[in-house]
Amino acid sequence: MNKAFVRESDDGAPRCPRCGSPGQEVLRDTLRVHVPEPLRESLTESAWFCPFDRCEVVYFDAFQRHLLTDQIRTPVWPKDPEAPLCACFGFTSQDIEADLAEGGVKRTRACVQRAQSAEARCATASPSGQSCVAEVQRYYMQRRQAQG
Ligand SMILES: [Zn+2]
Ligand SMILES: [Zn+2]
Repeated sequence: MNKAFVRESDDGAPRCPRCGSPGQEVLRDTLRVHVPEPLRESLTESAWFCPFDRCEVVYFDAFQRHLLTDQIRTPVWPKDPEAPLCACFGFTSQDIEADLAEGGVKRTRACVQRAQSAEARCATASPSGQSCVAEVQRYYMQRRQAQG
């Protein structure tokens, strides 16, 4: 048997049934915010978020049951480029583009600071259940490098 096929990701997280990306575990509270009631029942208590931008699967469980982007209440970054990166404050990739166009970091830095404060609600406001900070910084760096 192909070893790569059975290998689990480093932290043992289940992989997305469609694209094979390691999932990020999400809280039940996060699902409550983003998934309409009857659909939520179709996943087990433990569910994972698929972080791959070109995959339509948003949440899945260990039995390979899954929910797609059009079944979720809100648009999901990075699957939808119009969706906010920081769902807590509605910070979008356009804010980052505006910073880059000015050669500054004003909006991005303000978002990162707010996302690290007690106001932040990343765990439930963000469909991934992860802090927005890492994603905001990653996207900013990626775009800045692309600018050359
Ligand atoms: Zn996936
Ligand atoms: Zn946030």
